Amino acid sequence: MSYADKFESMKKGFDMGQAIAEADRCLLCHDAPCSKGCPADTDPASFIRKLRFRNVTGAIRTIKTNNILGGACGVLCPTAELCEKECSATGIGQPIAIGKIQRFLIEHARETDFKVFAKADPRPEKVAVVGSGPGGLSCAAELAKDGYPVTIFEARPEPGGVLRYGVVSFRFDLDFLAAEIEDIRNLGVDFKCSSPIDGHKGAEDLLGDGYQAVFLAPGLWDAVQLKAAAEDIKGLYSSVQYLEGLRDGNLQSFAERIEDKTVAVIGGGSVAMDCVESAARLGAKDVYLVYRRSYTQMPAEAEERIDALQGGIHFLLLNQPVDYVVDENRCIKGLKLVRTALGDMDDSGRRSPVNIEDSEWILGADVVIEAIGNKAEDQSPGWYPHVKLKEKNLIQTDPATGKTSVDGIFAGGDIVRGPALVVNAVQDGKVAARAIKAYLKQ
Ligand SMILES: Cc1cc2nc3c(=O)[nH]c(=O)nc-3n(C[C@H](O)[C@H](O)[C@H](O)COP(=O)(O)OP(=O)(O)OC[C@H]3O[C@@H](n4cnc5c(N)ncnc54)[C@H](O)[C@@H]3O)c2cc1C
Ligand code: SF4
Repeated sequence: MSYADKFESMKKGFDMGQAIAEADRCLLCHDAPCSKGCPADTDPASFIRKLRFRNVTGAIRTIKTNNILGGACGVLCPTAELCEKECSATGIGQPIAIGKIQRFLIEHARETDFKVFAKADPRPEKVAVVGSGPGGLSCAAELAKDGYPVTIFEARPEPGGVLRYGVVSFRFDLDFLAAEIEDIRNLGVDFKCSSPIDGHKGAEDLLGDGYQAVFLAPGLWDAVQLKAAAEDIKGLYSSVQYLEGLRDGNLQSFAERIEDKTVAVIGGGSVAMDCVESAARLGAKDVYLVYRRSYTQMPAEAEERIDALQGGIHFLLLNQPVDYVVDENRCIKGLKLVRTALGDMDDSGRRSPVNIEDSEWILGADVVIEAIGNKAEDQSPGWYPHVKLKEKNLIQTDPATGKTSVDGIFAGGDIVRGPALVVNAVQDGKVAARAIKAYLKQ
């Protein structure tokens, strides 16, 4: 099997029989806790009930009306921490597989060409959206449903944000993304790709350029680094460089750098899991996941952790990387680690890792990938200079509306919350769209 094949497509989802069998297990709770567990109000209790009574189109309508990225969320939501965590069936056995049912319904809508929305009568007020990730797409769709002409300005050549250039293709493939975006194009949203908003034409200039409101959702595209001034080390990548490279036509060149080599990935979240799994698929000899806390403290989902362990990834837990080992040509040779023990609780509610004295050692590695977080791009505030910021260059908004400190400018998604989830960005887009409509009607 070629590398391209190993990365090409997602695992198959439920078929109709499996989806109905799963919906038949639903306890039809009155005040359904699963719906309360969904950050985007997708209302799983309602679509599962409809499917259970064989109202398939009604179920699809519920999802799409509440969540234009219902398919993406069905695939990518960490459901065990959200809707399924609240499912009453958990007390009896397994929770209902809400995400899988949701994905099936959206795929079924596509296969049967069932369209939920008709084009609305056009309204005169134009809105600009900056960024075509889940936040921007959700806001644009909500506005377009009501006839507002929306233009999305996207810096990269193709739309989708992290869905296109972050999440690995074996978890979320191009065909699935294309179908999800097609629904939004069909609402009349205009996509201007390779069109960054920058210092020359900032967000505030858009307001004077025919747009009555602007929604900012540029996400977080700079990588948090373990050490400053390490950019010139050959064989050291940030997760942003690595994952974007894999999805941007550089699969073969990464395969050549990784095949038969030892790869170390620093981090314990879902992004680190995408990095270790893809390195294994690229034929690495050994893949180490280096994490400074313990197994149960890892932010990655239990299923992802188990998949990685079963895939032969070596978990190096309770080890803190402190430096890189390089040769005279600045090629990476390994990682200097210090062993840790768990100390007192920290702000995250977990026991903090404490370095153990004199326990440094070196892990040999040919490739190191840092997956320790993303942050706002350093130049971002330059293109919205009057928008008030909070810590880490994130944008300050009113959470009930997404309003920023500049009249007519709204914001949402990761640039407001910090690293979060697709479903959170979808909700921010909905909240801001509602507030933008109210603002335009003033
Ligand atoms: C590798 C990775 C894997 C993830 N996996 C999951 C997962 O499995 N499940 C989950 O729920 N969440 C996951 N997340 C988190 C989730 O993807 C984000 O929370 C979500 O994408 C945030 O959406 P957003 O719209 O705020 O920003 P983004 O998705 O980051 O999109 C922002 C868009 O704005 C564009 N942009 C930036 N600056 C400009 C500019 N100046 N002008 C024009 N356009 C600009 C960018 O090119 C990008 O397309 C993952 C994140 C990463 C990094
Ligand atoms: S959008 Fe995500 S969290 Fe909400 S019901 Fe669907 S799978 Fe669950």
